[in-house]
Amino acid sequence: MSNAPRLIDPFARAITYLRVSVTDRCDFRCVYCMAENMTFLPKKELLTLEELDRMCTTFINLGVEKIRITGGEPLVRRGIMTFFDGMTRHLESGALKELTVTTNGSQLDRFANDLYSAGVRRINVSLDTLDPEKFTRVTRWGRLEQVLRGIETARNAGLRVKINTVALKGFNEDELFTLTDWCAREDMDQTFIEVMPMGDLGNEDRVGQYWSLKELRATLSERFTLTDLPESTGGPARYVRIEETGQKIGFITPLTHNFCESCNRVRMTCTGELFMCLGQEDNASLRDVLRANPDDDAPLVAAIERAIGRKPEGHDFDYSRQKPDGQVSRHMSHTGG
Ligand code: SAM
Ligand code: SF4
Repeated sequence: MSNAPRLIDPFARAITYLRVSVTDRCDFRCVYCMAENMTFLPKKELLTLEELDRMCTTFINLGVEKIRITGGEPLVRRGIMTFFDGMTRHLESGALKELTVTTNGSQLDRFANDLYSAGVRRINVSLDTLDPEKFTRVTRWGRLEQVLRGIETARNAGLRVKINTVALKGFNEDELFTLTDWCAREDMDQTFIEVMPMGDLGNEDRVGQYWSLKELRATLSERFTLTDLPESTGGPARYVRIEETGQKIGFITPLTHNFCESCNRVRMTCTGELFMCLGQEDNASLRDVLRANPDDDAPLVAAIERAIGRKPEGHDFDYSRQKPDGQVSRHMSHTGG
């Protein structure tokens, strides 16, 4: 079964992709993402696992075909496998075409097989360095060995793994080829993400600075032949193939505007706020509507449709001017990256 898209925004874009943050908590404290002493939301603010299921099911009924689960660290949310198991019915019916996860990899050793059983086939694992000491420095609390073990378990379970790497000048610049060679050897695609200045994370922990992906790409092309790939996922990623190794490399520049015209996605936070655009603050609170109508989905559907009706054409060009330091006040762990 496939649902015809029912969520069409004012610019005739069909919204078929939902990213869902299932927790704001994390077992790491990556320096570009969180402060060391984070205050997390009280539990009652969060959507329960049942509410998450109802919310996602409603979006699927409205034509969403792809859901990515993120966080915080999604796999530290207690009972999260119950949620994944619940989504299996939508994968089996064909209404949901793909269920994916973005994870820091720390819990994969435990959960990779369960994810596969639930119907997940591809995951993104964030990894910025292959040096154990640097890994602990950038994540503050993480251990590289645990993540590498998790990746291995995931691949043995049959999950296709893509590595997400935040480009940090003076931090992983010298590991560019080590990382791409490792991904090529292990047959994993890789995506580089341009670092966004987020919130106030404390300057003492700055491990790197802005490294433009244009520059990174130029360095890659000194050694490899890069062929642009036409494919677009409707998101801020552009892809190339490295001819010498056959691997696919993505470049994510989250705040560029050149992808807005094909934007097919919205994001939901763990408290049920729907963000129609990563670069804008406008959001719709769906949680209260959901809680106020436990037996009737119609008001929730109406609230979602109203929100999609407000999806902007693209990032606001004045946005960076309003915030001269270029900061986005929300943390990535809140909107789910
Ligand atoms: N905890 C999971 C993880 O690390 O993959 C999922 C959530 S995390 C917020 C999602 C992605 O956002 C990660 O790949 C992370 O590297 C990226 N990210 C976090 N803060 C960022 C920032 N300031 N700029 C660019 N990417 C960032
Ligand atoms: Fe946690 Fe992911 Fe943020 Fe790192 S990037 S602190 S792993 S949520």
